[in-house]
Amino acid sequence: MARTERVYSRVSEAEDLMNKLCEAHPEVLWQVKPANVAIYGIENQERNEKNKTLAKVKPIKGLEKTIMQQHNVPIRWVIEIYWSDWHSWSPSLKQWIVFHELLHVSHEIGKTVRHDSEDFRIVLDVVGVDWVQKGDGLPNLLHDSVEFNLDLLPGIEDADPDDIDIDQRKKNAEAKSKDASQTKADQTEAYVKEVPTVPTVSDEEEAERKELEAEEEPPSEEEQLEAEELALKLAEESDDGSDKEYDSDGEDLF
Ligand SMILES: [Zn+2]
Repeated sequence: MARTERVYSRVSEAEDLMNKLCEAHPEVLWQVKPANVAIYGIENQERNEKNKTLAKVKPIKGLEKTIMQQHNVPIRWVIEIYWSDWHSWSPSLKQWIVFHELLHVSHEIGKTVRHDSEDFRIVLDVVGVDWVQKGDGLPNLLHDSVEFNLDLLPGIEDADPDDIDIDQRKKNAEAKSKDASQTKADQTEAYVKEVPTVPTVSDEEEAERKELEAEEEPPSEEEQLEAEELALKLAEESDDGSDKEYDSDGEDLF
């Protein structure tokens, strides 16, 4: 069955952003030479809802590279997005997506850089990416009140609802803790009061957090939603390994 051929045009707004991001963050995007990267948008198709990949990076190799070189075209990577997505993204989301894709650009021509983080979003959401290094700074999962965002629960889509009898578990846990606190109360009231109810953080972290809180405006609901969408995409994208040939539809490019 013949597929509609995609029609592309250059997203100059995104390329302007790329230039500005490279100037603003030379220490992070040191490997990106903007002249080597082109950003193209698909005009005649919208992203399928099931496709969580918002953008892709393709290194130019082999025959394509030869043709580019013969015609003095410096492009060595192409970032591909959907125009319909681009129009729907907030200014800051556009920045973060372009920034993310530029991190995939390698210092070596013909190569891309893979994601370096694999974890569960429900965990990262609470403790951040470098949680293993935090040691004692981590909240106590048994004694502190740690709030998980259940929308980020992994593997829930294909679970049997009968297996998820959370209410019963909660009841059991409550009953158990009532018993426990009763016993403890009998022993000594002070002991129960000592159990911390907030995550313990170091003074330094606390100061940093307060500083951030003071500076930052809370994100709008729209921005939050978009951020979640990106996170979703980042999580899914890590499965496909960005080093492999860039051809999501299983059809040869040539
Ligand atoms: Zn990526």
